[in-house]
Amino acid sequence: MISSIHRPTVARVDLQAIKDNVVNIQKHIPTGTKTYAVVKANAYGHGAVQVSKSLLDHVDAYCVSNLDEALELRQAGINKEILILGVLLPSELQLAMTYQITITVASLDWLEIARTMALNLEKLKVHIKIDSGMGRIGVRSLEEADQLIAGLQEMGADVEGVFTHFATADEADRVKFQQQLSFFKELVSRLADKPRLVHASNSATSLWHSDTVFNAVRLGIAIYGLNPSGFELALPFPLKEALSLESVLVHVKKISAGNTVGYGATYVAEQSEYVGTLPIGYADGWTRDMQGFSVLVEGQFCDVIGRVSMDQLTIRLPKAYPLGTKVTLIGKNQQEAISTTDVASYRNTINYEVLCLLSDRIPRLY
Ligand SMILES: *Cc1c(COP(=O)(O)O)cnc(C)c1O
Repeated sequence: MISSIHRPTVARVDLQAIKDNVVNIQKHIPTGTKTYAVVKANAYGHGAVQVSKSLLDHVDAYCVSNLDEALELRQAGINKEILILGVLLPSELQLAMTYQITITVASLDWLEIARTMALNLEKLKVHIKIDSGMGRIGVRSLEEADQLIAGLQEMGADVEGVFTHFATADEADRVKFQQQLSFFKELVSRLADKPRLVHASNSATSLWHSDTVFNAVRLGIAIYGLNPSGFELALPFPLKEALSLESVLVHVKKISAGNTVGYGATYVAEQSEYVGTLPIGYADGWTRDMQGFSVLVEGQFCDVIGRVSMDQLTIRLPKAYPLGTKVTLIGKNQQEAISTTDVASYRNTINYEVLCLLSDRIPRLY
């Protein structure tokens, strides 16, 4: 999708805030911990290349979800280690080897296919994934993990890491977390050949279980300044939200009692009032369920009225504002602010999803 740079809807990304968040999280976890910045999904919508470049002096490596995301960083000249967190099929391995991308291997079936293809894995760096209870990818027993490590080494791979992922690190109830942690600790301690890197901590684990860091962390949402738990758990220290979303009024009019606004004519004015139109809609990731939520105009909350269309939405204004007046959808506006987590909560989802849905049509300004 082409970015709509001639339209006044923009996402501003504060790279300094991201750096500050990384530095503050690093102060909170044991010194010497290796930091992976998780920049998958275009750095949670913030721009993978820009975010990665800005963190070159602050992190040791990056995590992405697939090979294309890794190649994007290599093409941008980033030479640091990149770990793919998802499964890369053996048939796609050659590119990963050429570009020195570290991969995750999560099953003995994968190993079997690689063996059948008689792949030479020399110089390939691998992390093996343990499924300690997330139930997504990874081997689920010590025997499998030992076989996987031995098998990969036989084929020439350098098995440098072993990791797992928690399902409930962002929740107040610690039972499931503790079960996963004990399972993983026990398994790792009994591995016949323990890899150099052991990691289990996403943002939530790094923030609320900083004692359980092994020797590396994988930091995603928190570096972008958001609370992984939404509103459930208090942050141990403040984070700075890096992304704000702004547009401007491109049309302002007065409507009369009984006039309707938007598709389906779902909004009927009870009295005469001012309506403003913004050039942003569900094609930008500002989904239809944002009807009834609000935006900020000159420090005042204004309701989104009528349905959100593909490319436009309408708000009720307290008075007539000039065209070009700034409107904040995420971020500060005078004394008030709307956070991504507020948006997520109204939408019954998580802040991660709100960020990831912001489409490429919205230019990112740094
Ligand atoms: C996305 C992801 C992370 C980062 O999670 P955050 O909650 O954003 O910190 C870490 N590890 C794995 C395996 C992931 O998929």
